[in-house]
Amino acid sequence: MPRRREVLKFAAASLTLLVSRVGAGATAGVSILAVRVWPARDYTRVTLEHNQAIRFSHMLVKDPERLVLDLEGVEFNSVLQMLPSKIIDADPYIKLIRAGRNKPGVVRLVIELKGEVKPQVFSLQPVGEYGHRLVLDLYPLEPVDPLMALLEKSGEPPLKSEPKLGSQEKPAEPGEKPATRPEVARMVTIVLDPGHGGEDPGAIGRGGSYEKHVTLSVARRLKEKIDATPNMRSVLTRDGDYFIPLNQRVQKARRVQADLFVSVHADAFIKSTARGSSVFVLSENGASSSAARWLANKENSADLVGGVNLGVKDPYLARTLLDLSQTATINDSLKLGKDVLGELGRINTLHKAHVEQAGFAVLKAPDIPSILIETAFISNPEEEARLNDEAYQDRMAEAILRGIRRYFAKNPPLAKSKLARLD
Ligand SMILES: [Zn+2]
Repeated sequence: MPRRREVLKFAAASLTLLVSRVGAGATAGVSILAVRVWPARDYTRVTLEHNQAIRFSHMLVKDPERLVLDLEGVEFNSVLQMLPSKIIDADPYIKLIRAGRNKPGVVRLVIELKGEVKPQVFSLQPVGEYGHRLVLDLYPLEPVDPLMALLEKSGEPPLKSEPKLGSQEKPAEPGEKPATRPEVARMVTIVLDPGHGGEDPGAIGRGGSYEKHVTLSVARRLKEKIDATPNMRSVLTRDGDYFIPLNQRVQKARRVQADLFVSVHADAFIKSTARGSSVFVLSENGASSSAARWLANKENSADLVGGVNLGVKDPYLARTLLDLSQTATINDSLKLGKDVLGELGRINTLHKAHVEQAGFAVLKAPDIPSILIETAFISNPEEEARLNDEAYQDRMAEAILRGIRRYFAKNPPLAKSKLARLD
């Protein structure tokens, strides 16, 4: 019996053995230049950055679960030696990594896993600041379900304190009873999307701040404020420093049947004097300006920098047709964008006085009003400092929430089911 099991295991391992087909001559003295590990609940990514194309093979081995990766023609240098120390105890998927020379000319990485995973191992061509990258993504067998996580958290309508009145709102008249009826008549779900993350830092300020950190910080603050508002709850597309492909951000919003999608970014331009907040929505017929088109291209390139496995079929990619529902959604997006832009104008200069439109991939949910907010210019030293200021991040989040509430006040959400209706 034990022997037969061994054979079966070996057969299974052979099946998952994949050899990359990189042209000959690519194996002379490959140097690993950097190693990065991005642990997250969604998946953990290990990135090896190297100076030229690499030949590699990998296999999953059982009892205990591990992923073995062989790198051909790679010198075992101090960078690779550092890799094991980059694994943190809290990593959801990786227990530890061992790295060493296996046989002449082959470096073997053995990744000991905390459980079964679905690995994706793929190469990325040099882009931007990055050289060649070999990426190992370790996914759970069952994807982390944002809807379940959301329901776990809000199975009960949370006890809320009296809704706080924003500074721009009319104070309650003396003697007037505080409003007990929430302004939104059913529970609405707002998906907040902190731009970039992980391999993709987004724009980098002159003072060294990363857009990906600023966007997460503002989005977390906004989430707290939304969750404290009656009949509103929010989900973050990422709550950590890891990359999510743009289409997956859209899919996450659709999976929780979001009422709104808000992507948070920080702008950058060559000239450090560029400043101000702006709001973008999807366009139906080309961009509203060449600047908007340029920005959409820049934001859409996140997938190249962040690293997407092109071997995995994307059901949304084939969907290039903007249908009728998308037109209606864009109209709602424009209304939402206008309300949010108006509120941003109270706390910051506006870069553009109106909502701009372009083909942002992250705004392509056909049925969810979606906006992309460029909170301020991280490339402007003054605005960079403010973007790092906690009190300012708070005011930014407050302004976005006021815009969202203003939108819902004028455009009450339709009942999703008859039971959800009040009145
Ligand atoms: Zn961005």
